[in-house]
Amino acid sequence: MARAFDLKPEERTADSILAWLQARDPELAHEAVAARADGRLLDLTAPLPEADRIEILTFEDEAGREVVRHTASHAMAQAVQQLYPGTSLAIGPAIEDGFYYDFDTSATFGPDDLAKIEARMAEIVAADLLIERREMSAQEAIAFFRDRGGKYKVEILEDIPDALVSVYSQGDFADLCRGPHLPSTGRLKALKLLSTAGAYWRGDERNAMLQRIYGTAFATQEQLDEYLRLREEAERRDHRRLGRDLDLFSLPEQLGGGLVLWHPKGGLMRYLIEEFWRKEHLKRGYDFVFSPHIARAHLWETSGHLSFYRDGMYGPLMIDDEEYRLKPMNCPFHVLIYKSQLRSYRELPVRYFELGTVYRYERSGVLHGLLRVRGFTQDDAHIICTPDQIGDEVKNALEFALFLMRAFDYEDFQVDLSVRSDEDRGKYMGSDEEWEIAERSLLEAIEGQGLDYHRAPGEAVFYGPKIDIKLKDSMGRMTQGPTIQFDFNLTSRFNMEYVGADGERHTPLMVHRALLGSLERFFGVLVEHVGGAFPLWLAPVQARILPIADRHHDYAEQVAAQLREAEVRVEVDDRKATTGAKIREGEMQKIPYLLIVGDREQTAGTVSVRHRSEGNLGPKPIADFIIGIADELQPPSS
Ligand SMILES: [Zn+2]
Ligand SMILES: [Zn+2]
Repeated sequence: MARAFDLKPEERTADSILAWLQARDPELAHEAVAARADGRLLDLTAPLPEADRIEILTFEDEAGREVVRHTASHAMAQAVQQLYPGTSLAIGPAIEDGFYYDFDTSATFGPDDLAKIEARMAEIVAADLLIERREMSAQEAIAFFRDRGGKYKVEILEDIPDALVSVYSQGDFADLCRGPHLPSTGRLKALKLLSTAGAYWRGDERNAMLQRIYGTAFATQEQLDEYLRLREEAERRDHRRLGRDLDLFSLPEQLGGGLVLWHPKGGLMRYLIEEFWRKEHLKRGYDFVFSPHIARAHLWETSGHLSFYRDGMYGPLMIDDEEYRLKPMNCPFHVLIYKSQLRSYRELPVRYFELGTVYRYERSGVLHGLLRVRGFTQDDAHIICTPDQIGDEVKNALEFALFLMRAFDYEDFQVDLSVRSDEDRGKYMGSDEEWEIAERSLLEAIEGQGLDYHRAPGEAVFYGPKIDIKLKDSMGRMTQGPTIQFDFNLTSRFNMEYVGADGERHTPLMVHRALLGSLERFFGVLVEHVGGAFPLWLAPVQARILPIADRHHDYAEQVAAQLREAEVRVEVDDRKATTGAKIREGEMQKIPYLLIVGDREQTAGTVSVRHRSEGNLGPKPIADFIIGIADELQPPSS
């Protein structure tokens, strides 16, 4: 983490931040990548700032990683310009996990080119070139880059003709760049180029197609190796790939972007998840409701969606001269159910639950398998209650969320509590009293579960505070999980009321709550989390029987019938193939149990059990096998 130092006046004699740091903390000077003072990032080669405090960043800081990776992108661009003369540079930022640079070149980069460029980058690192910053006017910079064939840089500069800009150079290379950068190329440690892609200049398909090279950089080779290992694992587990290999779902181009077809095996799993879900909701006093896919535009005007969520909505479609819209959210429907009668405090709380399919516009460029789609099903609930009840309701909703996540083997959570900022209170809906009650209930629920959390003032949306839970998957990636969100907007827009014990009308509190969020995304994430090896209760095929020869076929069918009787999802692999080939195929399909039957098993009334991860478990009487897996066949229960 960034280390902060007080700057004493007598230290200001040092030539640069780096020189000062070398005197103050030589070890840190070795690892330092940049500095920060008064919120501004600085090169280590810059003079000491006129600030009382300075922070020193290393690769452990997010801003530090960006400096390292951005410097690596410059080294890559330098290598490319040396190896492919005449190449023009577009832009080359650091991104999450790495960096890229877009090139305009007549060459077509393939794997051999990446290896060559990487080798040249290693030479640039070994040469330990000093990286220097110069400031100049945009006009000077235009002249500078025009001389060097930097037509894209000139285009950028022409948009900011009056600006003072900075140019970073190292050896024969120079780039228009805000910085900061490492002091020299020798400070780059572990580099790897990863892939290439086409990219349009400024993301606009009317512009030239450029070639993008992606790469990454780490502080040590060990970190890089670990990253590459996880990346390979992530590729092996990619849900789009497993979705096809295991025949779970598809998103055919012909259907339209971001729209999902659930195939029989995926459909069965979805059914099992939904069934588990519904049972758990019933146990907790939720009521099931259903609502249509379209509604009058007028409803979306009342709810406010047509003003603040218009770009995300599809439509209009006309029915009897009236405008309708596809639903992006289920909330207004649940509100109408609530409002179908005047409610008394005695009826509260109500908890409406729906697996509601919604449609939201996403740009085609961001669509990604099941993770970003245009039509998806939310496990949506709206809890409507009195202020006295809200504490318990939020506590129970959070407890429920954690139970469900643990049921799918998620153990690590990151909890964000988004609340309003102290300034700008005017922009939020709801009274101070409502915000206080809401925030307190969220906080007490989090603390009651003993969870660490991050409080984010100013992150709340205008209509209420919320909890967001992120899940850590088996490859260490964080993914969006349950959310519990107050809404002071809809309660007022729809004039929601209840009659209190005092006989007066009051406004209830309303909480939106989604646990899986999107069934599609949750399923995609789960496929990757378990690498397609689903827990037994969810596996579409739980056991497959492999008869060794034709004469074992009848016995295999008898075993299958017994297993079906015990509600095991089973199939018989009676193809003409060797047992070895059948085992390999069953393993590729991640089937939890393969049961091999031959002469010995037939005579003894047994099956030879082979478990997906534990391997060969030896012969077992059929009844014993069934008893042994009985618990695992059921979803987790609370
Ligand atoms: Zn740059
Ligand atoms: Zn809602």
